[in-house]
Amino acid sequence: MNINTVIFNANINTRATRLFEDGYSIERKSEDTLVITSNEGTKYEVDTFWDSCECPCYKNHGTCKHLIGWKQLEKVQAEYEEHLLAGAPAEDEEFGRAWYADRAALRA
Ligand SMILES: [Zn+2]
Repeated sequence: MNINTVIFNANINTRATRLFEDGYSIERKSEDTLVITSNEGTKYEVDTFWDSCECPCYKNHGTCKHLIGWKQLEKVQAEYEEHLLAGAPAEDEEFGRAWYADRAALRA
């Protein structure tokens, strides 16, 4: 892995972490398809079965902030559900209630 790859990966991870704080929104189009809309209105479809995205970054690098952002969201969600199953109160802010609300909206 050369230095440019390291910088690229660090950048993309940072941008993925900030994705939803940066005003991106996410909606489920089908079982395996999400539509992620940027704060400027650009829409990209993420295929969660094949782990692919239609954005230029994915085409060039095989990964992107949309895909990584979605995976982070799923991970937080799974942790939160475990927390609830363990009997913790649902209003515990520590476990990402905001993330959970987003995810619940996807299911509705
Ligand atoms: Zn993408």
